[in-house]
Amino acid sequence: MRRMILLLILTLLLTSCGAAAAPMEPPEHQLPEETESADTADPGQMPELPVSDLDTPVAEEQPETDEGTALPEEVGEPAAEETGETQPARALDRTRPMVALTYDDGPHAVYTDQILDILEEHGAVATFFEVARNLPNAPDAVRRAAAMGCEVGSHSYRHADLGKMDKDSQLADQAAADALFQEVLGTTPTLLRPPYGSMNKTLKTTCGRSIVTWTIDPEDWLCKNAATVVSRVQGQSRLDGQVILLHSIYPSTVEATKTLVPWLQEQGYQLVTISELIEYRFNDQVEPNRSYNYDYFRFQVPELPTAAEPAAA
Ligand SMILES: [Zn+2]
Repeated sequence: MRRMILLLILTLLLTSCGAAAAPMEPPEHQLPEETESADTADPGQMPELPVSDLDTPVAEEQPETDEGTALPEEVGEPAAEETGETQPARALDRTRPMVALTYDDGPHAVYTDQILDILEEHGAVATFFEVARNLPNAPDAVRRAAAMGCEVGSHSYRHADLGKMDKDSQLADQAAADALFQEVLGTTPTLLRPPYGSMNKTLKTTCGRSIVTWTIDPEDWLCKNAATVVSRVQGQSRLDGQVILLHSIYPSTVEATKTLVPWLQEQGYQLVTISELIEYRFNDQVEPNRSYNYDYFRFQVPELPTAAEPAAA
């Protein structure tokens, strides 16, 4: 009997060792991102299926073509004058529309760099919401993103459903994530995008981060088809001030990025980070314990100021 128990323990030990040694996988198999639940939503009542926040294109409404045809003069002040030690001073023009591309669930050992190549080629930036436990998969890519002026936010330690956690669990997840971000980047993120957009009041008021969701979800994680992702973004009735949700773990999303970045720029959009979008397009501040959600980005976009008067003839 004792031998049997010993054998059992040995088997269990071996199995768990095997599991621990398994390579870390990006969480693509996990539940899709969900629309942010209402502020007061009981996490227990989170919808099972993602409520698509894909904007239904309105045929009559045209994209901001006036701004789109504006000359790409960059007369604005440089971005990140006080925060970005390593960021290049890119000139942003407050009179022109802005879009933020965001990439979740990485970093990926191959695709994150490929996305960065595209951004670099076009002088663009994006925001990467990284799952902390994936950081060791591609630490150089994450450092490269930061050095390029991209923003790196947290997507939790293990793609957890933070909205279903109590404060202690949330803080534990954050501490574990911060340790890895600190190790790789030498800083901890100020932005948090909760996986599935799931959050509760505790998270929003005590995490000490700025919580960021999105407004446009072309569902790249579901269709895994570049042409579909591109057409869903291009079909939007409004892109100025919007936050596009993508994932850095699919080759199809890399392909979509190849088309979307130059296309957005041709339409006159400046590709900016989330913090730049909030500061330069919304004339607002990035503050801790505050959430910048669908309603914020969708409905509070200020009118574009008129371009500076041309010099008198
Ligand atoms: Zn995610």
